[in-house]
Amino acid sequence: MINLPKLRQPIVVVLGHVDHGKTTLLDKIRGTAMVKKEPGEMTQEVGASFVPTSVISKIAEPLKNIIPIKLEIPGLLFIDTPGHELFSNLRRRGGSVADIAILVVDIMEGFQKQTYESIEILKEKKVPFLVAANKIDRIPGWKPNENEPFLFSLQKQSPVVQKKLDELIYNLVIQLASENFNADRFDRIRDFTKYVAIVPVSGKTGEGIPELLAILAGLTQRYMQGKLKFVEGPAKGVVLEVKEDPGIGHTIDVIIYDGILHKNDTIVVGGLNGIIVTKVRGILLPAPLQDMRLAKTGYRSVDEVPAAAGVKISAPNLEEALAGSPLYVAENESKIDEYKKLIEEELSKIRFAKDVK
Ligand code: GDP
Repeated sequence: MINLPKLRQPIVVVLGHVDHGKTTLLDKIRGTAMVKKEPGEMTQEVGASFVPTSVISKIAEPLKNIIPIKLEIPGLLFIDTPGHELFSNLRRRGGSVADIAILVVDIMEGFQKQTYESIEILKEKKVPFLVAANKIDRIPGWKPNENEPFLFSLQKQSPVVQKKLDELIYNLVIQLASENFNADRFDRIRDFTKYVAIVPVSGKTGEGIPELLAILAGLTQRYMQGKLKFVEGPAKGVVLEVKEDPGIGHTIDVIIYDGILHKNDTIVVGGLNGIIVTKVRGILLPAPLQDMRLAKTGYRSVDEVPAAAGVKISAPNLEEALAGSPLYVAENESKIDEYKKLIEEELSKIRFAKDVK
């Protein structure tokens, strides 16, 4: 019997103002995770990065007396592309595909136009978030301590620097209050359901990454058990990108947020000229580098994949598929019609959202 995990991995998105460090932070999280991974733990995704619990535990190990968490989630799935446009399109019926968001704010600049826009979207989609107060290494006088927990590095800073940091965090608290959110530095929060956690980090030095991962994992596991319950039914997903891959043809990169996707499943997905119904020919994942036989396409084929995951799907008739469209696996004819209607409804909302901009 396959021992399926009780909870699936939460889907994490990163958003915030341009140049505040979203890409750098994601790269740092990925890089830190790679270093701590054992060979057997390697899984590669399409359009997303999976950080397994074993790795989160290792990274957060120095904090175990301060943030005691016993993780039951299998890990965290980070969507690789930052930005609120992508996030707006990651919609599922009645909400967002994202379970939690990291709102990246340059601590030296505070809230900017796209920070507010991001908050609007988070409010609208009711996605919980924490604030990564990024670029703490740019605080004048900050002494960097590569990859250390923020709380340890803070101890090594001068009183002047500590005070400056507090002032900058207080600015963020006020800006969040103007958006009707109670917020505080994470280590001063008792009730995480009432306060938005502010985690000081540096995407450059890696300081604060241990806390960021520990808090994301701890919060999602503690407060989202219902949403993260693993479902064995037909897969549901959303299309990130439509591509033409050499040697494979037209494919779609998809985030599967629910159920299990199988080879030969019938999928229903939105297209430029109407809804597309087709059969999954291949579920593709990046091939491990050492596997030379697959080097031509760079992908390996798997028979099935459980949520949450980022996968590439090859199937006939995908050339007109639409990025942002929902994707459903239909188990029979009547489901095909039902999903066609659902997708048409969803897509009309996306087009409407674009038109009013
Ligand atoms: P994005 O537009 O939000 O994805 O921002 P980027 O990740 O591209 O970062 C914008 C600029 O800020 C780049 O020059 C980064 O090197 C720099 N940057 C990002 N994070 C940090 C940080 O923590 N500290 C410092 N000093 N620079 C950073």
